Amino acid sequence: MGDYKVLSGRQIRPEFLTDESKILTADPSDVLFLAFPETIEHLEEIVSDAYGEEIPVRIQGARSGLTSGCVPRKGKDGRQEAVIATDNLLAVPHSHYYDTETKRVKTVLHDREITYGFNKETGEIILPAGATLNERRILLDGHGRLFPINPTHQDATIAGNIKTNATGLEGAFGSTRDWTIRLGQILGNGERYDAIRGHPMNNPSHVYLNLGGTILTVDMPTYEWRPVKNAS
Ligand SMILES: Cc1cc2nc3c(=O)[nH]c(=O)nc-3n(C[C@H](O)[C@H](O)[C@H](O)COP(=O)(O)OP(=O)(O)OC[C@H]3O[C@@H](n4cnc5c(N)ncnc54)[C@H](O)[C@@H]3O)c2cc1C
Repeated sequence: MGDYKVLSGRQIRPEFLTDESKILTADPSDVLFLAFPETIEHLEEIVSDAYGEEIPVRIQGARSGLTSGCVPRKGKDGRQEAVIATDNLLAVPHSHYYDTETKRVKTVLHDREITYGFNKETGEIILPAGATLNERRILLDGHGRLFPINPTHQDATIAGNIKTNATGLEGAFGSTRDWTIRLGQILGNGERYDAIRGHPMNNPSHVYLNLGGTILTVDMPTYEWRPVKNAS
């Protein structure tokens, strides 16, 4: 495996075995390994290896979900799951489309460097999957912008919000996916796929279907958004 943290057995802390729902709590023995990729290349490697070995994969954001969607489970046949935590996925790749910047962002929970992209002309921000809503708020604030959807758990990840199509209490501006323009994904077989709004394949559920029932772990390492101007 590549140069990133991988844990197994008792090395796996309890917080990685449940979510905020506490509906399900996994046992470390349900988990084949818990990997912390840092780049898209790491993700590709983990998912394509798992696909080749027919290992089911589970992906975690901030584990703030209320339905146990990120909690690992051992299959009836005794198969353990490979778990991918996106906690260290904090950098987007460079692109000519936006200016990339690495910034130290401090929140109550984290103090870490985030590499993100911002397009001054369009106001779109592109963020890594592991960045949180709090971190997005601070980064956008630096550009005099804000993101209109405001789910209440500020330490949830951007990717978790897209996956669950999170909506804030206000509701007036729709839900997270309404403001998502592009998803950089790793498909179930480990290949990259860029889902772009307006493209016939833009709906991730189409992507799932087109894979014909293979292991369907999709990751979304990068996103672009169209934030509205800060009124103040
Ligand atoms: C106090 C509190 C307040 C909340 N308020 C709201 C609210 O106002 N609105 C709302 O909608 N929800 C709310 N939630 C629920 C939760 O915060 C959201 O569902 C959030 O979007 C989950 O994000 P997460 O990063 O914690 O994802 P997780 O809980 O880690 O995962 C949720 C699902 O997303 C999948 N996932 C995570 N990361 C990725 C990825 N990179 N690629 C693909 N799939 C991924 C997981 O496999 C899982 O199925 C709240 C929860 C709490 C505890």
